[in-house]
Amino acid sequence: MNLEGKRVVVVGLGQTGIALAKFCVARKAVVTVVDQKPAAELAAGMAKLDGVPVTFELGGFDRERFVASDLVVMSPGVPHTAETLAARAAGIEVIAEIELAYRFLHPLASLIAITGTNGKSTTTALAGKLCEASGRPTFCGGNLGNMPLIDAVDHPANVPGGYIVAEVAAFMLENCTTFRAKAAVLTNITEDHLDRFGTMERYAETKGRIFDLQHEGDVAIGNAADPWVVREMATIPSHAYMFDSRPGATRTGHGASVSDDRKRLQLRLATHEEDFPVDDLVIVGNHNLENAMGAYLAARSCGVSIDAVRAGARAYRPLPHRMELVGDKANVYYYDDSKGTNVASVAASVRGFPRPLVLIAGGVDKGGSYVPMLEALDGVCKGIVLIGKAAPLIRAAAQEHGATYPVIDATDMHEAVRQATELCTAGDAVVLSPACASYDMFQNFGHRGRVFREAVSAVGAKRLDS
Ligand code: ADP
Repeated sequence: MNLEGKRVVVVGLGQTGIALAKFCVARKAVVTVVDQKPAAELAAGMAKLDGVPVTFELGGFDRERFVASDLVVMSPGVPHTAETLAARAAGIEVIAEIELAYRFLHPLASLIAITGTNGKSTTTALAGKLCEASGRPTFCGGNLGNMPLIDAVDHPANVPGGYIVAEVAAFMLENCTTFRAKAAVLTNITEDHLDRFGTMERYAETKGRIFDLQHEGDVAIGNAADPWVVREMATIPSHAYMFDSRPGATRTGHGASVSDDRKRLQLRLATHEEDFPVDDLVIVGNHNLENAMGAYLAARSCGVSIDAVRAGARAYRPLPHRMELVGDKANVYYYDDSKGTNVASVAASVRGFPRPLVLIAGGVDKGGSYVPMLEALDGVCKGIVLIGKAAPLIRAAAQEHGATYPVIDATDMHEAVRQATELCTAGDAVVLSPACASYDMFQNFGHRGRVFREAVSAVGAKRLDS
């Protein structure tokens, strides 16, 4: 793709928008960066583009700018507006940042793309480690960390034989037209972002685009235990590999399952079968076995050797804010699961938890049901402390569920941690796993986790994270 002289509108002046603007300017495009927020709120972003020849149009969108452009590139998470849709209606390409990046990737680099409601980051980071252990140049990013996929274009991994591993969110796939992964993983599809997508059907179909855009000879990897995933894999152009963590899962067809003694991950590849010890991994829980099977299948089908898979798995360490033990006070343990941003992820974290727990939950509701979380809490939960806007909804759901433990409100994280601590006795745990988005009270899930840690220190707990 040649951007020289093209009028490009970059939508969103966040970290990705900044990277996009620099990328397009370096390729001699005429760039306008637009954002709905006013300039006063975007000073930091503008400063990062100091000296880069771009035009800013902030505080609202100008329809004429969109329809007079040659290309519109959307930052992740930015929803369509009347202006972006008008550009599309006028025949102008409106694409996601990952789609633009894809068009500049070397066709002989292996692109591994991972999506799903939960487990994306873990599967992506693990797959990245496995690829890295092969010794070949590897880029690992996308929606993960601070590495938008556009940064992969000028990365040493963008060469024949390199590995490019990308976490991909549903709203990125919405604006993709040719993004073709050699191996694509769909971890699961459960209720999330319904505020944005409206129905599960639309949300699932958008996730399914990761497979729809593949070609014959590519590999599609999905969760056999998830009916929405199975549905999205029913008619795809690529070759399906299904992983299944359920005990007694059918072991036919290409894919992966867990041995009866739960000690080995068994892969059924195109030409043979092989297995890997679960003990190579420090991450625990059934959901992480699913993440591992997805990552192993992707790596093996892209030529990472068995030895490299094992070395990479052993080197892998959990990401922060995913059931991280961060404090201990008189044998009350504090876990930061701030990345538990939807009901299914909280359910996965607390199901069968080995000690009684008090949950801190709440924030911005996503429009789904809290029942799976409340069911997973049955038998382990001593109380729920609620924060944020969703508090009344969670309270009502807990009442309807017949919860017998106390459900109390807190005005901020510090109060929540104090109240949760009071409900605990030695041997119990306080778990921050909110089942909601964070932006009513925090900048993002990382910020929420950091404030939790401060609050844990403030009640006198010994910090275990440094
Ligand atoms: P994502 O990037 O999709 O948000 P993460 O790997 O960051 O996923 O995990 C976020 C949370 O989701 C974890 O703390 C864990 O509780 C839960 N989780 C992780 N993997 C899975 C999975 N495969 N199925 C269900 N829940 C999961």
